[in-house]
Amino acid sequence: MIRLQQALAWQENDKSTTNDEARKVKFRHSDFLILSSFVIRASSLLLFLFPLTLYAADSVLGSKPRWSVLEKYQDTITHDQFTQLLNDVYCTHGFAPDLIEINEKTARVLMNHESQKFFTLRFAESAAVRKPVPRLWRPAKSLPAARSHKPLAGLKVALDPGHLGGKWAKMEERWFQVGATEPVQEGDLTLRVARLLAQRLREFGAKVSFVRDSNEPVTAKRPDDFREPARKILIKNGVPQPRADVLDPNDPAKEQTIRWQSEILFYRYSEIRRRAALVNFKLHPDLVLCLHFNAEGWGDPTHPTLTETNHLHLLVNGSYLAEELDFDDERFEMIRRLLSRAYNEELPLADTIAVAMARETGLPPYQYPTTNSTTKVGTSGYVYARNLLATRLYRCPVVYCEPFVMNSNDVFARIQHGDYQGTCNVNGVERKSIFREYADSVVGGLVEYYSHARE
Ligand SMILES: [Zn+2]
Repeated sequence: MIRLQQALAWQENDKSTTNDEARKVKFRHSDFLILSSFVIRASSLLLFLFPLTLYAADSVLGSKPRWSVLEKYQDTITHDQFTQLLNDVYCTHGFAPDLIEINEKTARVLMNHESQKFFTLRFAESAAVRKPVPRLWRPAKSLPAARSHKPLAGLKVALDPGHLGGKWAKMEERWFQVGATEPVQEGDLTLRVARLLAQRLREFGAKVSFVRDSNEPVTAKRPDDFREPARKILIKNGVPQPRADVLDPNDPAKEQTIRWQSEILFYRYSEIRRRAALVNFKLHPDLVLCLHFNAEGWGDPTHPTLTETNHLHLLVNGSYLAEELDFDDERFEMIRRLLSRAYNEELPLADTIAVAMARETGLPPYQYPTTNSTTKVGTSGYVYARNLLATRLYRCPVVYCEPFVMNSNDVFARIQHGDYQGTCNVNGVERKSIFREYADSVVGGLVEYYSHARE
């Protein structure tokens, strides 16, 4: 269901700084301060805004939170465990005391701004007496011991190749082309990696499913289905008579068009929410791997800027911003995720995969230019907590991989070589196919993690 009063929570995947970067700004509008986040894509300067109403409802296309499901987490976490996760992982930028109040024996979380009703969570008195955490996914330690040549036996892994690719790649602005060479489309690259990865994971005994297995969307909706919500969002955000269409790719006001808004509602919000429904209600994996390629700002996609910069990082859910916690649905999803203890599994997993990927790719860790939306976590130096839609909504451990700057000279050359067995001479160096290097290094990390955990 679409809620029109909602404000935009954040935008993931903004390649103006890095491919999957969010933007948050404060903007003064008329005579009151509006906290808003807005969309910046490669070409844009200033765009339309999503002002928060005084009492924020839910984030874009969000659904009404069902706080009663959290009852099953009563007495499953101690006071110290709860505060540690809140302070070190989920609310690293702080939280408003009127949203979450921590007492000795309980935490009170605001359920609804309008009604001012609270959910009360009872802490377990000690780690020794705490009740087991209810969950559908299985931590590595609870899987039966595996034979040494099948360390992933029985593990249910869902692969989520980022974006759509194919004919949608230009719309989702995950497309660039150098001269007459093959266009680079992130959604196609990630699917290629996923297929190689699936094969390798199955060799080690894993049960693999795909969140997306073609270059068609998972959602049945299309941009035209969102024209009316897009129009209303624009009007609400100070564009009284929004234009229907974008003039050309360099149209400076394209974000203020119904076309552009309805497209983003389709390929980002509707698509990722449908993928989440698939993961949560059908696939029930023990782990989701989100597969992406990174990028630096490339400017005009038909004359992209290539760079020498290349790097790697991985993301797990956390590091919520104050304005995200203000949404009733995001606050609920944050608390649900915290209580599920997905972090206890996804952090060591992400660290182990990161080390394996760094070893195989030789890439340095990406450093975010600011710490506004991310928090470095773990021990590898490559893992950040960040609140992305997928890492928040998939109800199981999620490791989100961001290796390789697609528009770096090195990666671009390797992508142009395509997939191949063995090695090939690329710019004077014998290299594995970039797709196999990606897949093999992720598998290496998983094998290492599960071999140790299931000993
Ligand atoms: Zn991506």
